[in-house]
Order: sequence, then C-alpha cells, then structure tokens
Amino acid sequence: MAKKVSYQNFTFEEYIPEQQILDVVKNIATQIEKDLRGKKPLFIGVLNGSFRFLNDLFSHFTMDCEVEFIKLKSYESTESTGKITELIGLRDSLEDRVVVVVEDIIDTGLTIANVINDVLAMNPKEVKVATMFLKPDIYKGALIPDYVGMEVPPEFIIGYGLDIDGLGRNLNSVYKKIDSVPLELSKKKGMLNIVLFGPPGCGKGTQSTILRDKYDLVHISTGDVFRGLDPESELAKLAKSYADKGNLVPDDITIKILQSEVKKYPNARGVIYDGFPRTSAQAEALDVFLKSKGGAVSCMLELEVEENELRTRLKGRAMDSGRPDDADPAVIQNRIDVYNTQTAPVAGFYKTQGKHKSINGIGSIEDVSERLFHNLEEVIA
Ligand code: 5GP
Repeated sequence: MAKKVSYQNFTFEEYIPEQQILDVVKNIATQIEKDLRGKKPLFIGVLNGSFRFLNDLFSHFTMDCEVEFIKLKSYESTESTGKITELIGLRDSLEDRVVVVVEDIIDTGLTIANVINDVLAMNPKEVKVATMFLKPDIYKGALIPDYVGMEVPPEFIIGYGLDIDGLGRNLNSVYKKIDSVPLELSKKKGMLNIVLFGPPGCGKGTQSTILRDKYDLVHISTGDVFRGLDPESELAKLAKSYADKGNLVPDDITIKILQSEVKKYPNARGVIYDGFPRTSAQAEALDVFLKSKGGAVSCMLELEVEENELRTRLKGRAMDSGRPDDADPAVIQNRIDVYNTQTAPVAGFYKTQGKHKSINGIGSIEDVSERLFHNLEEVIA
C-alpha cells in the first residue's frame, strides 16, 4: 500500500519515491555539468521550494560554480488590494555571467516568467532554466525550460521542497493529493462549474487560483490562454489586436478556445471559468456545451468592486504584469465600458436561472476569499 500523509484536512499518497527523484537529479546534474563546465555558472534558486533540488544538484557538481537565492515577495499595495510582486535578493549586475535559474515546479509559469524578465534586465551572457517538476497540461508559456526533472499531471503535489501552507517540504518523496476537497465537502458528487465574474481588476485571477487550490478545480482563464499562445501564430495576433485596445475577442473564437481547454481535463472535479463567458452569446454557448457533457453551470460568483478602485488596481498591476491593456488609461476605461455594456448583462442570464451570487470584492485577498468560500460551500453542500 502506498504511504500516506495528511495536512490541513487533505490526504496525500506517495507518488514519486525518493530514490527516483534522486536518480533524476543526478542525471540533470550530469547534463548541466557537461553543458556548462568551464563557464563558472551562477545558479539562482527561487525560494522557498527550490532549496532541496538545488542542494542535491550541488552535491553532484565537480565544476566551479556559485549559488545564490532569490525570493518573490507578494504584498498588497497600501492604497489598493492589488497584489504586487517584487523580486528580492537579485544582485545588481549579471554581466558576462552564465546563469541557471532553478525552480522547484513550473505550473502556470507566471513565476518563472517574472524571474526571467528581471534576470534578463541584468545583462547576463546566457540564461538557462532548470526545474525539477513541470506541469505540461497547465504551463502555456513561451519559454522552454532547458532542464526538466519530471513532468507531472495537473495535480497538487508536496514533498521534496514543495509545501502546503509551509508544511511538507521535509518529505523525501513526492506525494499527490488524493481526497482533493476538504473532507466535509467531498460527499457531493458531480462536476462543479463555477463562473467567476466581475470587471477587469476585481481580483478574479488571484481568487481563481485560491479557489482552484482549495477545491482542487481546474482554472481556465481565456485571457491567459490567449496571452500564452505562440505570439507568432495567427490566432495570437488576432486575439492581441482586440485585447490591446480593450475590446473583446469575437465570440466564435473565444468559445472554440474555451471548449478545447475544457476538453483537456476530462477527469477534472470541476472548472473555474475566469473571464468567460463575457457576452450573453458565450453564456448560452457554455450552457449548450456543458449540457452535451451532462453538466451545467453550478453558480456564478460575481465580485463587485467600484470603478475608481478598479482603475487604481489596474494601474498598480500594470507595473508588474507588463500587460499593455493594463497600462493605458484610455484602454482601461474602454475595458470598463465594454464590461458595463457587453459583459455585465451576463449576470442577468444567471440571475434568471437562480445561479447568481454577488460578493463584495473590496478588502484583503483573504477576506474576499472567505466570502467566496462561504458562498461556494452553500452551493456544494
Ligand atoms: P507558477 O507561477 O508556475 O504557476 O507556480 C509556481 C509556484 O507555485 C511554485 O514555485 C510553487 O510554489 C507553487 N506550486 C505550483 N504547483 C504546485 C504544486 O503542485 N504543489 C505545490 N506545493 N506548490 C505548487
């Protein structure tokens, strides 16, 4: 029988045994040493999770090499609840250095994209990326990591440096979550389809990630899908031409993209739809699509945030998201206007079905999450 551990009401089952991990690390170390011997590489570990992987890599190196650690610090700005991410610990210049950024796991790829951006700004001679784990079903970034220990399914894992609320990093094997929702909620059967709704800047992305992790759902953001497409592809160029001006990508394209994303997760316990449906036509198309799979939208959770607060948050987000549609006040205003005219009526669609819940989106991230949990648990119970 597989070994089991429990944290926070969740049970995890041994998934990748210690010896298999150590063998993989040894292979990567050999490969890196072969590629970089003589270049005195500087390894930059992204804390906290990468400390074990990096330590084990180093135990195999015989070449000259250095190590440093950096940390992504997230905090809320004083005047808004927008999340700011700042990289701390990076030296001022990496001129002429061959750098290997070391991650524990690449999931959506947002972290590594942020880090690489900052590392490149320091003018290194060469940058490589090594990650112990990669979730290929979730990762849609353009950057291809140079060294990948193992590909893992889109499930939550802990151990070998990876944590759940700070715990589990000391496990030597990797464990996978098995009873994926808190015990008291796991009785309810059927797939959850949650539409997380609200104007640009209301916190949908942040809250989707929190709901995804708590209830073991798949998070589908049509905006992220569009932004993650190969920038040279026709579809990406088309989507960008709309998004950059703050306009909506046409329904037929968005619906097709959404359907192909959902089909990637046939065994999902549920899906959070973030940024979809954005028009009444999309809402109807989602109903038809889910019905064809024997399902339905479980509820729409609408985050309510007033316009001035949205503008402040989007301005703050532009500093670290690099999204052109966050930076320009005219584009921000157009996005808010498009939301009010084309998107807000979608709430009415779900109100008539008795599936709409309004949630106050002002306050700390934790406070808003609590409100969402409370509303969602009424639906699941
Ligand atoms: P990304 O920015 O690629 O979505 O996420 C990277 C970070 O999310 C990782 O450094 C890690 O802290 C966390 N993360 C992503 N997936 C998992 C997982 O399955 N287990 C744990 N414990 N953390 C994860």
